[in-house]
Amino acid sequence: MVSSIQSIALAALLLVSSANAFSPTRTRNAASPSTTTSSSSTSLNGVRSTVARVRDSIMAKERSREDLKIGIAGFYDRSSQLWEDVWGEHMHHGYYVPNDRTDHVQAQIDLIDEVLKWSGVPEPAADGSNASILPKKCVDVGCGIGGSSRHIARKYGCTSNGITLSPYQAGRGNELAIEQGVADLCNFQVADALDQPFEDESFDLIWSLESGEHMPDKEKFVNELFRVATPGGRIIIVTWCHRDLEVGESSLNSKEEKLLAKINRAYYLPRWCSVDDYVNLLKSQGAVDIRREDWSYIIAPFWKAVIKSSLNVKSVLGLAKSGFSTQRGAYAMLLMLRGFDKGLIKFGLITCSKPEAIVKKAVQAE
Ligand code: SAH
Repeated sequence: MVSSIQSIALAALLLVSSANAFSPTRTRNAASPSTTTSSSSTSLNGVRSTVARVRDSIMAKERSREDLKIGIAGFYDRSSQLWEDVWGEHMHHGYYVPNDRTDHVQAQIDLIDEVLKWSGVPEPAADGSNASILPKKCVDVGCGIGGSSRHIARKYGCTSNGITLSPYQAGRGNELAIEQGVADLCNFQVADALDQPFEDESFDLIWSLESGEHMPDKEKFVNELFRVATPGGRIIIVTWCHRDLEVGESSLNSKEEKLLAKINRAYYLPRWCSVDDYVNLLKSQGAVDIRREDWSYIIAPFWKAVIKSSLNVKSVLGLAKSGFSTQRGAYAMLLMLRGFDKGLIKFGLITCSKPEAIVKKAVQAE
């Protein structure tokens, strides 16, 4: 549990910074949209839409798909620089084994490696003897600023195409690829995971790390992951899920729904689903070698570390300047902690492979 002192400090920080709550935001990258209005009618509209947003926020109202898409892009445009300044290039949980480790960035890198290992992707042999069975083409669906892509590209010597809704993230991902000398392997672009700009059967490694929770249509999301995978390709989804429903339950209880609704407003998330739901969607695609696991206990120390890290001067100043949605995101960390503690939120791993065409045909012919 996060200590009450930390909660109070965070709450104080949010209050102090609320003076900035509705100010226009600035970003480092020229590719990022930044809007200012001049005429009185547009500023009146601005006030109206702010009032509507605040009202919807208080009511924890579910966003429409289009609002969600615009909101996700804006949220990551505004918050990615602060995250990178404080936490670096990986925008996901860490692997906390042992659970008292404090090397947080390494814990994030280890999470990528451990997920790959768990999914059965071979480790590159030191003498290069297994190069032929290593991934050649990866797609990083919901890539952030590309931390996973660059790591995977360096690890396997493969290419990685990252897609994100945030223009800032795509631009920053490409900048970092140049800085890190992997621009020939990695490319980042703005594109929708639900309508990917790739041919069928383009990638042998499909990687989605903590982006599935943003997808308003999980079926379409899974269909797209499946479509762009080569026969025999490996699909890996690591995502926040709600607990599986018990036999006889048809939904979560209303307290659980309310907690998730508040988190959804803060992090621009649609309705959640369970790991069971993902497994069923993959089965319906004909996926083989489906495996699942709950790593909630492995990532548990992460949110406490994030909250602690946000209580230093640099983060406090950054958060104060960052605008309302980032500040609300900071507050929602406490709600995430509560969700994990109650067993409502699960850190789910799901992997499968797309069957070889020949196997699929044989099954159909039976
Ligand atoms: N996988 C990255 C980033 C996780 S943050 C990392 O671990 O570092 C979630 C990411 O999902 C953001 O980059 C966001 O833009 C992206 N995302 C959310 N919805 C998306 C969609 N419909 N299409 C593409 N990317 C999406």
